[in-house]
Amino acid sequence: MKTTGTRSLVLLALLAAFLFGLVWFTGEFALDGGGWAMQAYNGHLKGGGQLSYAGQVLDRNGVVLAQSVDGQRQYPPDEATRRACLHVVGDSDGAISTGVQSLYRAELAGYNLFTGLAAPDGSSLGNDVRLTIDSRLQAAAYQALGGKNGAVAVYNYRTGEVLCLVSAPTFDPANVPGDLETNSAYEGAYLNRALSATYPPGSTFKVVTAAAAIERIPDLDARTFTCTGSAVINNNEITCDGVHGEIHFADGLAKSCNIVFAELAVELGADAMTETAEKMGFNRSFSIEGVDTKPSSYDVSGAEAHELAWSGIGQYTDLANPLHMMILMGAVANGGEAVQPYLVQEVSSPLGLPGKTGAGSAGPRLLDETTAARLEAYLRYTITSYYGDETFPGLEVCAKTGTAEVGGGKQPCGWIVGFSQREDLPLAFAVAVEEGGYGRSSALPVASAVLQAAAAG
Ligand SMILES: [Zn+2]
Repeated sequence: MKTTGTRSLVLLALLAAFLFGLVWFTGEFALDGGGWAMQAYNGHLKGGGQLSYAGQVLDRNGVVLAQSVDGQRQYPPDEATRRACLHVVGDSDGAISTGVQSLYRAELAGYNLFTGLAAPDGSSLGNDVRLTIDSRLQAAAYQALGGKNGAVAVYNYRTGEVLCLVSAPTFDPANVPGDLETNSAYEGAYLNRALSATYPPGSTFKVVTAAAAIERIPDLDARTFTCTGSAVINNNEITCDGVHGEIHFADGLAKSCNIVFAELAVELGADAMTETAEKMGFNRSFSIEGVDTKPSSYDVSGAEAHELAWSGIGQYTDLANPLHMMILMGAVANGGEAVQPYLVQEVSSPLGLPGKTGAGSAGPRLLDETTAARLEAYLRYTITSYYGDETFPGLEVCAKTGTAEVGGGKQPCGWIVGFSQREDLPLAFAVAVEEGGYGRSSALPVASAVLQAAAAG
């Protein structure tokens, strides 16, 4: 009796373990089956995991950005479009992990929980993925960069649709260069810099210092600052690009006077500066299609007064991520509330079955409503009073440029961040041009070219 009882218990335990395993496997299969099927060692995916029989990737207007023809992945006929769209669409091998061909690999290949992968019989049964981006704007941004490296990000700050997301260096996915891994010109070419890079923000960070000042200094607009071209703080010289003399805050921002913002940062103090910077999205990442952006960073813990001063003008250890700066500008335009960006408008099956539809979601509040309204007015004044509306013809732009010292004997990183106020063109943007020199001459023309292309479309 005793033996039988023990045997029953063992059997029962084995049965329980088996059932548990079955339930666990089924759960894992349902959750991760697509990922397993997409592994490179799956023979159904020809060419080491390439998307030989997958669905199409289309832009917002139906332009085909990637498709499979006779077992080969093909890209658009225009080389500039192929290069411009590389980081959003992704390459055939999945080396660009943040590209849609990597992120939506299972959907494109037609993986389904019940039937597995569609048989690769030459006719694609994969899903098509339609993006929010406009390939015309992609090409315009790429060409405006003029061979420089950097990042361009533009989105609709009401809906969250990303219209343009370009990163350089890039390469032609239809003719992958043989020296991609060894030629330093392609260093970091797999990285989408708009999502995964940060640069010193330079004067674009003055938007943050301005917000901190707006919220804490009641008589800000009545104040007069004095710029003699330099100021000594904590026995260190802070320099300005100009000699602005007696200057009010609005002109200090428009003319990007370093002395105004260095003095404000010191007056506000490290705690207030950090509080505002973090509220505005520094020291955290944002998510787009499940990809976390590289966090912008602001850290003045232990900074001395002159270092705090430099931090207020976007130098010291400040770093900014282009996508975050775009979202931040969208928040300024939206009364302080950010809309989260997205890239995939729709995933549709070849059988006409309904698929995923993308939508922007309300993001965090990055600014108080009154702060956002005042920032918007200052940034509009920056363009009308200083750069001139002719730099963005008919586009009603609010913006701030930056020229960020990066050290190492390199030319500064040129920046512009901003947005259009036009009701029919609610676009926010961030452009960073590596070794671009002045933001006004490197990044501003890129933003203007893309917005003009958007307005013309
Ligand atoms: Zn100055």
